Order: sequence, then structure tokens, then C-alpha cells
Amino acid sequence: MCGIVGYIGPRNVVDVLLDGLRRLEYRGYDSAGVAVVDDGRVVGSKRVGKLANLEQALAQSPLRGSAGIGHTRWATHGRPSDTNAHPHLDCAGKIAVIHNGIIENHAALRAELMARGHRFASETDTEVIAHLLEERYRGDLPAAVRAILKDVRGAYAVGVLCADAPDQLVFARNGASPLIVGLGDGETFVASDIPALLAYTRRELIIQEGEVVVVTRDGATISTFDGTRVEREVNHITWDVRAAEKGGFKHFMLKEMFEQPKVVKDTLAGRLRDDDSVDLSELGLDDARLRDVEKVAMFACGSAYYAAAYGMYLIRSLARLPVELELASEFRYADPVVGRRTLAIAVSQSGETADTLEAVRVAKAGGAAMLAVTNVVGSALARAADATLYMRAGPEIGVAATKSFTAQCVDMVLLALHLARLRGTLDPELGASLVRTLRDVPSLVDQALNVNEEVIPLARRIAKAQSMLYLGRHVNFPIALEGALKLKEISYIHAEGYAAGEMKHGPIALLDENVPVVVVATRSPVQEKILSNMAEARARESRIIAVVNPHDDRALECADVAFTVPQTHPLIAPIVNVVPLYLLAYHIADHKGCDVDQPRNLAKTVTVE
Ligand code: GLU
Repeated sequence: MCGIVGYIGPRNVVDVLLDGLRRLEYRGYDSAGVAVVDDGRVVGSKRVGKLANLEQALAQSPLRGSAGIGHTRWATHGRPSDTNAHPHLDCAGKIAVIHNGIIENHAALRAELMARGHRFASETDTEVIAHLLEERYRGDLPAAVRAILKDVRGAYAVGVLCADAPDQLVFARNGASPLIVGLGDGETFVASDIPALLAYTRRELIIQEGEVVVVTRDGATISTFDGTRVEREVNHITWDVRAAEKGGFKHFMLKEMFEQPKVVKDTLAGRLRDDDSVDLSELGLDDARLRDVEKVAMFACGSAYYAAAYGMYLIRSLARLPVELELASEFRYADPVVGRRTLAIAVSQSGETADTLEAVRVAKAGGAAMLAVTNVVGSALARAADATLYMRAGPEIGVAATKSFTAQCVDMVLLALHLARLRGTLDPELGASLVRTLRDVPSLVDQALNVNEEVIPLARRIAKAQSMLYLGRHVNFPIALEGALKLKEISYIHAEGYAAGEMKHGPIALLDENVPVVVVATRSPVQEKILSNMAEARARESRIIAVVNPHDDRALECADVAFTVPQTHPLIAPIVNVVPLYLLAYHIADHKGCDVDQPRNLAKTVTVE
């Protein structure tokens, strides 16, 4: 995820671009860059780090031009650096490209382009577009963009500037990368999100998937990839700027929950093969070494620890490997037994979690192969590890993790399937069926979000609770833990997650009519047992709130309130089942008037031990 902007018109182009990028910086801040056309030449400036670095560079060496594009990056391919910052240029330096998203077949395209003599400056997937355009451009920029996009696979919004076509900018969108055109008088603006446009105009065109838009001072012409003209109604935007940054949602956390379907899609992009197997060749870890692994050691903190716990069940049952799971802050002091045949897996959204980094040091000192699962390209964790599986969740602004947890869980499934296939423990039928299920997960999560409206009245009713219990079994046990953690973090209500079978060994003593019990009770081989645990809790007068599958009368009978989520393969179901638990925590906290995005005492990235 990143922010892209474009401007053509009489104002100071660089000022307009920087102002737009400032409003989009929440979308990524690994680097920022601009390119403008000045007197038949493309000139630009780009800097790693926050926008301030670019602003400083431009203050020292100002640029002027009549049209320009700008980018703030959330790195997915290639670490954050000056050279990997967008815009990217073709060999002749005449075509500049900005891009939001992922070009899935970039490696193959790059190899072909290099064989034809193109020289690449960056490690990004994006740069192939500039070189493809260099080959195709014959005086008609929109035609060249249309032509090359036939060869490009992935989800993207791209913007193109060309020295020989100073009177236009061309943008294209495929997949879920947003793109909006703002119409002014004798000037036109483009941005990934509305806040970047609000200071200039409220007349906007929303560009849809599969469309190319040619932008001039006089407006914009939209067409499909095959060149058919599209008429689009002009939208009049009434949002205030702050609401706009949250996409109309009241809090970033709520917005991020609703981004989960897209995040799952992005996390899966390019990692599932047509033959229903998983492709993690990107890891670059030696297959022989992975086959040789005799034990997995996993460690993480907070929500990432619960995602790792989900991964533990999957790796154990699919790859048939013993897994030791430990909190990162404990691992380092726990005399862990790791050696050359250990695969250590560290999970951290930020990749900067101090405890996790310390645990990595210990695992590496023991000789383990170190695999990182993180959201941040070039983070300390990614640098320390032998291989990294990225989460691709985009920036998460809400302090309480939601979409990043979902992405971590998806990565866990991919990893378990990859290990299982390498080790020959994967039943091919089961493997293929899990991959097919993964393809459905974006839509299943989307359907699960439909319970949002139903959650609100319940949240109001139970917001006064002092304490709540969350129960789950097997792969849904980590989901119960994550649901309880979320409630604690943002609503300050005491909550405990428990393995449902363990309730009778202690926590049942807490139960009475004032302690609601949330149970993940979807269909699974352990559902029978869960239903008994629900009955036990109900017998103590607790109100039972259950996450269930459609038409499951037996589960419904055991619940006082039920939220229905679509049924799916029991091993994948946790990724869907967590959705109502997040919504419940959110609406309770919101009803209590808590600061949902910045809960007291918490910080997003915990860089202290
Ligand atoms: N995949 C591109 C990169 O890594 C664009 C990422 C983005 O959306 O910022 O540079």
C-alpha cells in the first residue's frame, strides 16, 4: 500500500504534490519521491524515509515543471532506499512511473527485459513498467500503457509521466488499489485517496478496476484497458478532512478491520499456483535445509504470538514437525534447545519488536535457520533473518492489531503448506483443498464483516461488564486468546482467553450472570466438546455469546446471542472467526468512549524489552 499523487496545471507542481503526499503519508513512509516534466525533460527527487527528507532535499534543490507525479512508499519488493523509492525511470530517463500494489510476474518480465538489454536501477517490481513502456511508446502514451498492461499481472494503480508528452499524465488501475481524479478549473489532480484532493476540489471521479485515465489540464478521459470510452458521473465530496483520512470510518481500527478482505488477497497474491499448490520460492531458503529440519521453534509477542500459536497447530499437523512455541520475552531466558536442524520462526508486524529481536539473536547463536514473518520490508527482523515471508498488510495505524493479525495467520497457512509439501507429509487432496479454500478467504472474511450491525446492540448491552471469558479449542484457541486481548487493550475490560476444556480446572469459578462468555463454536471435529463447555458455562448463569456457522441449530441452542460467519475448512476457519471478536471489542470500546486507536499505556511498536 502506498500513496500516489499527480498534478497538471498552473500552480507550483512540486508544492501540490508534496501537499498531497503529506495527506497520504499514513499509507506508507518508507520513502517519498516526485518527478516533473520541465522543458521536455523528466527531472525528479526521491529520498528514503519520511516525507520530511524529501521536503528537505527539494528545499535545497528546488524543481519546477508543468506536470508531475509523486509517491510515498510502503515497500513490498526491495528494501526502503533512495534507489528503490519511486518514481522509477526507463533507461533513457524519459518515462517516470509510480505504482501502488504488486506486479506478480515482475521477476519473469525483468528477466526478459534484461535479456533485451534494459538496465535496472532498483530492486522493485515497479521498474519493469518503465522499461516495458520504453519499448512500446511510439508517440501515443495511453496506447503504450494499454499495450503493456496486457503483459502485467497483479493488483496495481500506476501513474506515468513522459518527457515527450508534457500535456498529459496517464494512470491505470487494476485490483483494489484506489485511484481518484479531482477536477479543477484548468487543472486536474490525481490521488490514491480523497484527503489529498480536498484542499483543491470536491469534484471527483472514482477510477474503477480495469480502467485507464488520461489526465490533462482540461479534465480526464476514462476508458477500459481495451480502449472503450467510459462515462463516469462526477462525485461531490462533502467529507471533512479528518474523516476522509479514515475513509469515512470513525476510527482507523474499524477501517483496518474492513480492509481485511483486501489484505488477505494481497498476502496471497502470487503465492498460490494454478495447480493448487503454494509457491514460496521467494523465501530463497535452501529446500534441502528445510527438508532436514527436525524441529521448529516459534516466538513472538502479543497478537503475533497468537498468530504463531495458530501456526504451531498447522505446522504440527500438516508438516508433522514438533513445534516449540514461546513468548519472545521468555524464549531468550529459557535455555532453548536449538541447533542446525532447528527452523526458528519469529513473527512481528513491525519487525522492530525488541524482545523478538533478542530471541532471534539467541536462536541464531544456536545455529537455527531463521525465518521472519513481518510486515515491514527492511525492518531489523527482516535484516536479521535468513529469509522473510512478508505479510503485505499495509500500514496499520490503529495500535491494536487487526488486519496484521489476519495477514500473519494467512502467512502461517502458507508456511505450513510449504513445509509439509517439502517434507512429503502433505496429503495432496488436503493440500489442494486448503489452497482452494484460501482463495475463498477474502470473500469469507468479507461476509463475516456483515455481522457488524448486529454486534452494536450487544456491545451496548455488555459494555458494563467487569470481566469476560473467551473460549476456543484447537485452532480456535489462539483466536479466543486474541479476542480477549483485543477487548483488554481497547476497552479496558478484564478478559481471559482459555482453552475451552481447561475452563473446568479453574476459571469456571469466576462465572456468574455478570461474566459474559464468548465462545468460538463453529463446525469442527471438536465442536461437540465445545457445545458441552457452553452448556457448563450456561449452567452458571453466564450469558453465552457464540460465533457459529449458518443453520447450526445445536450451536444456536447453546447460545444466548450468536453471530453467524460462513463455514469453511476447520483449519482455515480461525481467519474468518476472529472477525466478530474484533468487531465486538471495537464496539464495546467505542460505546465506552475509549480512545480506540491509541489505547492508554500502549504503543504500536514495542522497541523496549
Ligand atoms: N511494490 C511496489 C514497491 O515495493 C509498490 C509498493 C507500494 O504500494 O508502495 O515498491
